[in-house]
Amino acid sequence: QVLIEFDNVQKVYPNGTVGLKDINLKLYKGEFVAVVGLSGAGKSTLLRTINRMHDITGGDLKVNGQSIVGYKGKNLRNLRRSIGMIFQDFNLVNRSSVRRNVLSGRVGYYSTWKSSLGLFSAEDKKRAVQALDRVNMTEKIYTRVDQLSGGQQQRVAIARALMQDPQIMLADEPIASLDPLTTTAVMDDLLNLNKELGITVLANLHSVPLAMKYADRIVGLRDGQLVYDKPIAEVKEED
Ligand code: ADP
Ligand code: ADP
Repeated sequence: QVLIEFDNVQKVYPNGTVGLKDINLKLYKGEFVAVVGLSGAGKSTLLRTINRMHDITGGDLKVNGQSIVGYKGKNLRNLRRSIGMIFQDFNLVNRSSVRRNVLSGRVGYYSTWKSSLGLFSAEDKKRAVQALDRVNMTEKIYTRVDQLSGGQQQRVAIARALMQDPQIMLADEPIASLDPLTTTAVMDDLLNLNKELGITVLANLHSVPLAMKYADRIVGLRDGQLVYDKPIAEVKEED
């Protein structure tokens, strides 16, 4: 079942830089896709078009069979809620607790004054505990984020993304600032979401060996173009 479809997608940034060129790509529900390529190849741009953090400038992009290009208001909010995202630098609020950070994944569901006062529903508090449990971080629930290691922070970021019950998880260089040991913990968490919750994962990775270990499929970009696309079983060393 096709979940995300790039149909001749172009992305030219306002300053004229080409982010993506002629991208044709179908991603299927339940896949774990690694996007590889050098820095500046367009990996981050590719991910960010899917949740409309960046708007494409040509072609069409469909999620669940519907073009998201013209989405506004409620449609756009729903699209973004169905897509979780994590970043290289975690994007957490450092001076807040793990709990507050994770609950902030539900902020879009509350009026601003309620969430600013920390008035979350019992159900969402329960959901937060469950999300932390999934990444083995429940013991740290009251710890301040700046007292955690990078790997632990990334797992908190995953838990925050899970609060939206996402259908898709976008991971933009999720392990680029982590050491090898915590890299494994974070990648294992992503694999767990993929296999146990059925969340489709798209991860930008620099490391091809890591992509081969975790992904079902490897997509390669160079200078904004799709230059490689193979299921893991067909990936060869010399590629
Ligand atoms: P991240 O690396 O955290 O994904 P960005 O998405 O901001 O950061 O940037 C991704 C890449 O695009 C970086 O290599 C950055 O140098 C480049 N970049 C970001 N903004 C601009 C810009 N306004 N003009 C040119 N290049 C940019
Ligand atoms: P990657 O994630 O593979 O490192 P990016 O998607 O960040 O690549 O960047 C692709 C190209 O688009 C690069 O040339 C980058 O500098 C440029 N770019 C990224 N973000 C911006 C931006 N906001 N404005 C202008 N150019 C950008």
